Amino acid sequence: MKVIIAGGGIGGLVAALSLHAAGIDCEVHEATPEVRPLGIGINLQPHSVRELIELGLGAQLAEIGVATQEFVYANRFGQMIWREPRGLAAGYHWPQYSIHRGRLQVMLWEAVTQRLGAERVQAGRRLIGFEQDALGVTARFLDGGQARGDVLVAADGIHSAVRQQFFPTEGLPKWNGALLWRAVSVAPPFLTGASMVQAGHRDRKFVCYPIGKTGDGRSIINWIAEQRFPTDVPWSREDWNRRGQVSDFLPLFQGWNFGWLDVPALIRGTEAVYEFPMVDRDPLPWWTQGRVTLMGDAAHPMYPIGSNGASQAILDARILARELATQPGWAAGLASYEAQRRPATAAVVQANRGDGPDRVMDVVHERAPEGFAKLEDVVQPGELEAIIMGYKRTAGMDPATLNSRGSWSVTRG
Ligand SMILES: Cc1cc2nc3c(=O)[nH]c(=O)nc-3n(C[C@H](O)[C@H](O)[C@H](O)COP(=O)(O)OP(=O)(O)OC[C@H]3O[C@@H](n4cnc5c(N)ncnc54)[C@H](O)[C@@H]3O)c2cc1C
Repeated sequence: MKVIIAGGGIGGLVAALSLHAAGIDCEVHEATPEVRPLGIGINLQPHSVRELIELGLGAQLAEIGVATQEFVYANRFGQMIWREPRGLAAGYHWPQYSIHRGRLQVMLWEAVTQRLGAERVQAGRRLIGFEQDALGVTARFLDGGQARGDVLVAADGIHSAVRQQFFPTEGLPKWNGALLWRAVSVAPPFLTGASMVQAGHRDRKFVCYPIGKTGDGRSIINWIAEQRFPTDVPWSREDWNRRGQVSDFLPLFQGWNFGWLDVPALIRGTEAVYEFPMVDRDPLPWWTQGRVTLMGDAAHPMYPIGSNGASQAILDARILARELATQPGWAAGLASYEAQRRPATAAVVQANRGDGPDRVMDVVHERAPEGFAKLEDVVQPGELEAIIMGYKRTAGMDPATLNSRGSWSVTRG
């Protein structure tokens, strides 16, 4: 069997590594002419880190990522609402990593090049369409080239060309009114030095976590400032590199110096800000047509809430490879992949529309918008934990289930 993968992002590259490990021939075609470490930080949750470690990438991950120690929710005054250990400290058998998305992509690209050979991963190959027949599928690229295989996997992101061919009337991604300004600043470490913090509420949030260290012991801190606007404010197509202006949003966070975290100082400390509208798409009624299927953001773009988009793409890749390797033929493999992953990811998309685990901040803000003397006066015992554990179960990252389930790795056939 030969699999053509369109898109060399996180999902497409992990799919290539997983298919190769399972003994299935595959090749990756990536639209951008050169893969460079663009983008800012993301968090990889233990369920996806497990998969990367099982692919033999544990040492590389540990080198480029920061093992997240704890997670903190706070209100807009910096009063802590929730504080929990993360990764190994939370009892998972695998760490959580805060990591530069571009460095992760380059690391995966290099692993694919090394393991599959440079000819199996090509840049500058934008998929523009495909045709399939009884014997195979032909992918067509903008450069005039073609690739033929038994299966075509569309890992080509939120503006997927294949999804557009499947659902031509779907239109643009849906915006929920929030704008995100993402950036990196160098600053002294805060809390444990490996903490992830989210402060505020649904309409105005600040998120930050370290993704590295400088030689003089300071942290390289990834942060996201977020503000919700009426949805009739015009917005532009999102990408990873639209520049924003600090002056557009710094005033919104002016009073947010918590003592343990100085938000305005972090914002002022950046050299470049990138702006995104918070968008997703509706869950689809199907992903697979004949020999062609969707995965990752092409299949289920979700709001960046709960830090799960890239992790879910990695889980897709692993299940896709396992099912193609173990089911009797590609058709059964694709059907089984979709049956497992489409409902699972639709649930995460929907949970994120309801603010996911961040709902704990909304609950406290609704009841105590000016802060609280004692948190117990505002929330019932167990109320916040129920929201957070419920999201972990939905996303497939509840520690007990993850630690006890068997491996998804397939031995080379
Ligand atoms: C603000 C923000 C914060 C986020 N934070 C997190 C987080 O903390 N944790 C997390 O897990 N996720 C996070 N995400 C989401 C995460 O980045 C995505 O879910 C993830 O990158 C999806 O991987 P993918 O491979 O499916 O798509 P992408 O990473 O988008 O990769 C798609 C690839 O396909 C290529 N391509 C596009 N069109 C074509 C074509 N026609 N032919 C060939 N190639 C093509 C693109 O160049 C790209 O390389 C965040 C997203 C945003 C916007």
